[in-house]
Amino acid sequence: MPLSITHLGSGSRGNATLLQSGETKILIDQGFSGRQLNKRLNMIEVEPEQIDAIVLTHHHGDHAGGAGIANRRWNIPVHCNFRTAEKLGFDPLNDVELFESLQRMEFGGGLSLLPVPVPHDGADNVAFIASCDGQRAAVVTDLGSTTEELASHLRGCTHISIESNYDHGRLWRGPYATSLKHRISSDEGHLSNDQTGELLADVVSRKTQSLVLTHLSQENNLPHLAESTILYHLDEVFQGDIAISLQDGPEFTHWIGQSEKETELRI
Ligand SMILES: [Zn+2]
Ligand SMILES: [Zn+2]
Repeated sequence: MPLSITHLGSGSRGNATLLQSGETKILIDQGFSGRQLNKRLNMIEVEPEQIDAIVLTHHHGDHAGGAGIANRRWNIPVHCNFRTAEKLGFDPLNDVELFESLQRMEFGGGLSLLPVPVPHDGADNVAFIASCDGQRAAVVTDLGSTTEELASHLRGCTHISIESNYDHGRLWRGPYATSLKHRISSDEGHLSNDQTGELLADVVSRKTQSLVLTHLSQENNLPHLAESTILYHLDEVFQGDIAISLQDGPEFTHWIGQSEKETELRI
């Protein structure tokens, strides 16, 4: 069964990514208001009630701020790890479905998700490696540094969505307080364009069909800077599509597991 990945929007004002395999619909993160989520899903002809699960990377508001409302309003189960549940004020044993890092979660439509821990800002954050029909797709966001464990899971993925948060020069010349600049660029902050490029150069192969750059800082990055930096690092190895998901959306749907690669531009 082909797997599709649709970015409903990405950035510090809200993140959500929809994975679909057959009738199974899983939302990775829900950082939007209920109204915004409803609107964005409706634009791709999906009703919130059709979502089978919300799976959270970590507790920060731009990723999890709308999970509770979606759970209450549309009865969508929330899956997260223990620390994320506690930080969000959920009762970990009754309000959510708990998962642990490196333990695979099986959903319908042959879709499974593997949470892989990544270092980030006091959060128990995870990247997700989705598997479907022998193909793998990664959704990776909010990490200050890469790990060999993460790199090993990214190798061989058909699709990778990954944050490319800031341009180093723009961050340090920009208006943020020095303490915040240090936090963002620390090993527990976010990935710069160069760090993302170096990681992708390590893991991308001819098997990689599509890349989506996410979570670009509106103050400290520009889409063309992110894209050109990543392409500079990738050299000739990568021959697939590269796209950028910004705050407005939904923007792109990428399909994996089809004989003909298909990237559909939504707007
Ligand atoms: Zn975060
Ligand atoms: Zn974030």
